[in-house]
Order: sequence, then C-alpha cells, then structure tokens
Amino acid sequence: MLHRLRISTYGGEYRTSTQCPYCLSTNEDTIDLGDLEVNEYTDEVQVRAKDYNKKRSNKKGDSALLFTVQFLIDTVDGEKLDPVRKEEFVENLPMMDVNYIMAHSTKLNEKVGLNTDLTVMCDVCGLEYHTTFREGSEFFRPTIDI
Ligand SMILES: [Zn+2]
Repeated sequence: MLHRLRISTYGGEYRTSTQCPYCLSTNEDTIDLGDLEVNEYTDEVQVRAKDYNKKRSNKKGDSALLFTVQFLIDTVDGEKLDPVRKEEFVENLPMMDVNYIMAHSTKLNEKVGLNTDLTVMCDVCGLEYHTTFREGSEFFRPTIDI
C-alpha cells in the first residue's frame, strides 16, 4: 500500500551557544524554530508500508532512528496519527523508506541552515549582536532535560 507522508523539521526549541563579540562571554540561547518560520519547510514523500499484520520487523535495535523518523512525520495520507499508531507505522516501514525519509529531512535541514540571522542579547554585558544559527548535531537529537 502506498502512503503519502508529510514530513517536517522539528518545531520547537533548540539550544545554541554563541560568543559575545564585546565581552567574549558565552551565551546559551534557546531558539524557537517556530520564530524562524522553518516549520514551513515540509516535504512529501511516498512510502510503501508493510502489512500491519506481518511480524514485527527486526529494526527494534535502532530505536533512536525510528524515534527520529516518528518525529519527522507530520501526517500520513493527510491524517495525523496518534503516537501509538505512528510508532506502529514507522516500525512497519521498510528500511529503504526510513532512509528515504531521513534523506528528505537532511535536505530540509540544509534549507533551514541557510542565512538564518539571529539577534542575541548578551546575558553578561547586555549588548546585542548578530549571529547566524546553523543547526548542529542537536538538530537531529534535541537535548532533552531529564
Ligand atoms: Zn557581552
């Protein structure tokens, strides 16, 4: 069965650290990607999910990857899935489709990384400076506070 997926970059917040050019302090900032309007960067991919009745695949081992793919998927055939159904859907995706989704996501991230200028106010000296947000590895693995 063919499914049309809408995938999007993560909404929400990302941490970045920048150095103030005036006092050389390091500022930890949280960037709301919604403010950067990157949520508009979505893409559609078509995947061929396996029959739900089939035995669970052996992808269990790579749960981090599956978790990421679940994050990326916005809708399936125009429908928002609840977390349980989405997990089931992703677990049933052929590995080829998982890789395909990740490749699209990388493309989205490249767009996001272009010329995203930010104005940061230094926590220490209070002066404002400009910087450019480029997502690092955290983009795929947001830091989670425990
Ligand atoms: Zn400063």
